[in-house]
Amino acid sequence: PVRVRFAPSPTGNLHLGGLRTALLNYLLARKTNGTMILRIEDTDRNRLVPGSVDMLINALDWAGIEFQEGPGKGGPHMPYFQSERTELYRSHADELLQNGSAYRCFCSADRLKNVREKSAKAGKPMAYDRHCLSLSPEEIEKKLEANEPFTIRLNTPEGTTVVQDRVYGKVEFNNRTIDDAVLMKSDGYPTYHLANVIDDHLMGITHVLRGEEWLPSTPKHLILYQSFGWTPPQFVHLPLLLNADKSKLSKRSGDVHLEDYMKRGYLPEAVMNFVALLGWHPDSDQEIFDSDELVQAANVCGGVWLQFSLDQVNNSNAVVTLDKLDWINKQHLLRRAATPSGMDSLVEMLQPLVKDAYGDRLSSMSEEHRLDTHYLAGVISTIKDRIRNINDIPNLCSYFFVEPEWKSDEAAVLFKKLNKSALKASLSSQYFDDLSKLPDFTATSIKEYIHQFADQHQLKANHVMMATRYIVTGTRVGAGVAETMEVLGRETCLRRLQEQMS
Ligand code: GLU
Repeated sequence: PVRVRFAPSPTGNLHLGGLRTALLNYLLARKTNGTMILRIEDTDRNRLVPGSVDMLINALDWAGIEFQEGPGKGGPHMPYFQSERTELYRSHADELLQNGSAYRCFCSADRLKNVREKSAKAGKPMAYDRHCLSLSPEEIEKKLEANEPFTIRLNTPEGTTVVQDRVYGKVEFNNRTIDDAVLMKSDGYPTYHLANVIDDHLMGITHVLRGEEWLPSTPKHLILYQSFGWTPPQFVHLPLLLNADKSKLSKRSGDVHLEDYMKRGYLPEAVMNFVALLGWHPDSDQEIFDSDELVQAANVCGGVWLQFSLDQVNNSNAVVTLDKLDWINKQHLLRRAATPSGMDSLVEMLQPLVKDAYGDRLSSMSEEHRLDTHYLAGVISTIKDRIRNINDIPNLCSYFFVEPEWKSDEAAVLFKKLNKSALKASLSSQYFDDLSKLPDFTATSIKEYIHQFADQHQLKANHVMMATRYIVTGTRVGAGVAETMEVLGRETCLRRLQEQMS
């Protein structure tokens, strides 16, 4: 059975690249009825950012990425925090020392700095010069007795190491280019390489899906698997995400953290859909997927693989274009708006936005409850075709929540169009009276009435609508005026008409 893991280091917010890694792991697990594990790689104690584990779990939860084993869930391989597994790493490191696959390094920070500077000057890779590999057992014994601090390094064997990667194919590394990496630090914590390999093995991981930035580390991992006599998992390295200008999507540049997208009102299924399409595409032309559909569409080769193909590496699929996200978000928004429970969820998102945007001004405006769920659902269905994001609503159509700010000259122009005759005053009062008496104030009857009124006075229905729109909303563009009026309600419309027509 397939067992995959998402293994973030708690060093800050989850970014889009990390989210994509998590998502593809999740899809593979679901597609194969496998298991997804969340493992927290927190052995680099200097880089820890407090609160990031909670943020991570919260983000995965928001995105709908479920894992079966991990923090808060438990599982047969507890604990899932690497910082709580140090004993395990220590005993395994000892095993490597014993079988000669690793050695103790007593070099001081100063010496290592010197070595680095020398190789930099010579234009060589910054590799350790293996000084401590040749220490005699007696020398080592003496240093240990004197309590000299040491690290444990990988004793890279000669030869070549071949990574068979699902995306990158066969990648060969000459072992001479592989540094004798530190496996255990002098503080007793393992480095990423050691802890990662031990845990992937002990946790029974069958497929390692991770960012391409880890591909250069993979030969070290393979050497470690070999040193322990373990079979390595399959490797699937995922192409880097790129900015539209093909530069690397930096963790520091804006718009990279999932939290930003969460705050900006993007729907989780839209973000997932967007991220899934970065560096992967399904066989069909379909572009809009919810997570069940993603699982459906994910290609499986040999019963196991999601299909990633080499051609997709660095091609436009991995370019992050926010216009596309906006478009995808809109499609998912329309999908949600089409079902009662989906609509409820949108209303729930809109409520706090309206409260934030208008606060006190809301309550002072009218008898209607602007935060009422029924009212907000009406607002959303009226405006849904004109927005890409729920967050657009407060700005784009404030007239649903507070009094519009009319510019009197614009209203005057529209009125002139409406009232070519001298009838202006009586006409408006008839209009007002009729609307106030309309048996039901629904979009259909409002529309019907406006046409009737226009016919009766040889006016263009269009002009009457335009003028009415301007009066009740303070804007000249928007959703259907009759629909808007129905949602606003008779009282508000009449009040605004009266104010502007007198
Ligand atoms: N802890 C590593 C990271 O933060 C995990 C890399 C891997 O998946 O092996 O990305």
